Amino acid sequence: MDRIQMKTPLVEMDGDERTRVLWQEIKDLLITPYVDLKTEYYDLGLKHRDETNDQVTIDSANATIRLGVAVKCATITPNAQRVEEYNLKQMWKSPNGTIRAMLDGTVFRAPISVSGIHPTVRTWEKPITIARHAYGDVYKNSEMRVPGAGKAELVFTDTEGKETRQEIFSFKGPGIIQGTHNLDSSITSFAHACFQYALSVKQDLWFSTKDTISKVYDHCFKDIFAEIYEKDYKAAFEQAGITYFYTLIDDAVARVIRGKGGFIWACKNYDGDVMSDMIATAFGSLAMMTSVLVSPNGQFEYEAAHGTVTRHYYRYLKGEETSTNPVATIFAWSGALRKRGELDNLPDLMAFADRLEKATLDTIEAGVMTRDLAMIWEGEAQGVTSRQFLEAIAGRLAE
Ligand code: NAP
Ligand code: MG
Repeated sequence: MDRIQMKTPLVEMDGDERTRVLWQEIKDLLITPYVDLKTEYYDLGLKHRDETNDQVTIDSANATIRLGVAVKCATITPNAQRVEEYNLKQMWKSPNGTIRAMLDGTVFRAPISVSGIHPTVRTWEKPITIARHAYGDVYKNSEMRVPGAGKAELVFTDTEGKETRQEIFSFKGPGIIQGTHNLDSSITSFAHACFQYALSVKQDLWFSTKDTISKVYDHCFKDIFAEIYEKDYKAAFEQAGITYFYTLIDDAVARVIRGKGGFIWACKNYDGDVMSDMIATAFGSLAMMTSVLVSPNGQFEYEAAHGTVTRHYYRYLKGEETSTNPVATIFAWSGALRKRGELDNLPDLMAFADRLEKATLDTIEAGVMTRDLAMIWEGEAQGVTSRQFLEAIAGRLAE
């Protein structure tokens, strides 16, 4: 059989632990038998990040800027325990944080629905997509332990050297402080990405912040969104029969739980981090969610929303075939291949991505799935190992 040919390589960002093992199995069993896979490979495994002083992460982000489409495996964000475990030179920053800061943009996360798994929230009839701003705030912060009494201030020095100061707090004893920032340009591209995505899928767009408390910082997000909506999208939204709705984050949480779903919920970086895990879990599993970073310059990075599944990896190292769900990682590959096909005008590659997703969902709907799904499945389900699940999908693909 002739394998499907590609034109431009994908940027392949390999990762860590259990997901690194799944990564190779997905390529071997589901992709390379059908696609003459072209990738530019970057090993973002923690060991190699340490060996290259994290240069490999920067190189992979630059490659994405150059080639346009990347697919990323989950990676370890080191903490003190990891520094010891891997004997690291330093506590490297989160690769996702580094890549997102370089690409800017918005992460869209949507649940992968299958019949047989119903959302925990009874009222939800349709998926909820989270649009997470991927730049700045606490992910690019500067923080400090305050040792004792003293005054903390915000100081901005302009290019002429003029200072503007504002007191944060007068400490009488030890404490903590944190400085965060964002950019009008990044918030603007976040807003455009959200409005355009809403129009492309014809769904209402919700946006929430805490502007009543954060009267400058969060209010700026609210104002930029409102201005861009009025100027560029109001007419198109009305024509498409969809709405833009702004509300406070706590009000949004209550409305999301009462609502029917079927909308896009735009969130600031931290809110999106937390809320996407809540939404994914309520729709079934963290492993049943797609995640794509869309940059304002038209670059796309596909990934799984979950981590490296460390607990399963340690069992895997002891020789146990774990039942780790590979669906989000498969969909990262199918999403990236489909986008590459779209950009390079390769209908066969796009059709393959559709077939791979369908074979995955059909396998689950036939009652063969990993244990995390079998536990919440309504009806007879077989909880199998990752390997068995991937082989079942491979069998369907071959048909
Ligand atoms: P995690 O890897 O997402 O796993 C947390 C738990 O969720 C697992 O122990 C497992 O529960 C369940 N789970 C997650 N994905 C699953 C899957 N595909 N199939 C079945 N169950 C799944 O989060 P973590 O343990 O907090 O973090 C582990 C490492 O991942 C950390 O080093 C962290 O830095 C990194 N991380 C990376 C990314 C990323 O690269 N995008 C995101 C988050 C975390 P049970 O054990 O109960 O089965
Ligand atoms: Mg997270």
